[in-house]
Amino acid sequence: MLCSTPAGLYSPAGDFYIDPVRPVERALITHGHSDHARSGHAKVMATQQTLDIMGLRYGASFAGETQAAELGKPIGLNGVSISFHPAGHVLGSAQIAVEKDGTRIVASGDYKRRADPTCLGFEPVACDVFITEATFALPVFRHPDSRDEIAKLLKSVEQFPERSHLVGAYALGKAQRVIRMLRDAGYDQTIYIHGALGKLCDYYETQGIALGPLAPATIEKGSTSDFAGAIVIGPPSAFLDRWARRFPDPVSCFASGWMRIRQRARQGGVELPIILSDHCDWDELTGTITELGPQQVWVTHGREEALVRWCDLNGFAARPLHLVGYEDEGD
Ligand SMILES: [Zn+2]
Repeated sequence: MLCSTPAGLYSPAGDFYIDPVRPVERALITHGHSDHARSGHAKVMATQQTLDIMGLRYGASFAGETQAAELGKPIGLNGVSISFHPAGHVLGSAQIAVEKDGTRIVASGDYKRRADPTCLGFEPVACDVFITEATFALPVFRHPDSRDEIAKLLKSVEQFPERSHLVGAYALGKAQRVIRMLRDAGYDQTIYIHGALGKLCDYYETQGIALGPLAPATIEKGSTSDFAGAIVIGPPSAFLDRWARRFPDPVSCFASGWMRIRQRARQGGVELPIILSDHCDWDELTGTITELGPQQVWVTHGREEALVRWCDLNGFAARPLHLVGYEDEGD
């Protein structure tokens, strides 16, 4: 029903790929991050939000034709039944359930279990085979309470009113989550955003996720003091270029699950690590497998070995999938 190929997870029965890494005839896409959602497929099926996001990122002609999948509503494809279910990863993200002859496989894509005010929560779907990501599949990865991490940022802003706080956050999902969580914590000042975030933030607003006052992080009058005390959000890549140098004595912050590793934060020159992930931590991964109780677990992109070993020790048949080409842009 599903097997791994160089182009990605393929269904010989249904003749489709899930999140293929090469252009294919028919692709089912779990979410809009660039390593999962690529342009150039002939036919693409995804949630309407994921299709919209792909259109924003790649232009309207990103695929030959598109079909929007409604959450929870089965669609027949060459005798295989397919349904999309919320994955809790980013806006529009979905798990894809594939069913034939009474056997159901759920490809969860990227997912997380904790609350995120910018997308629907993960919905457990009973299945025979559960395909799980393994981005943070080591016991060292235990994400702290997200609200405490946002509180750390706000405390620093209060402590250093003369400095700007430059927050690295992935353009799709993480940036909007940080902004929304700042609002939920009572921060009502204008938040300045890098140009790469504009279209996606606007799109989130159209989907009912209010982000409050945002303004482009550009200096028009040439005065860097404009940003003293401000929170500025940009994609991590922007921190390496000239863009970052315009802000006054910035506190460099990075919102990522990787910030759990101090050494990694230090190497990246991050002064204020914000441990905020759009992926499951170790407890969420093992908790989800325990909750679903599938007959088999297939493990992909990340630290496959550790999770496969945990499954073996806990009575779940498991194997790594060895899919290549996924370097999640939204960790
Ligand atoms: Zn992702």
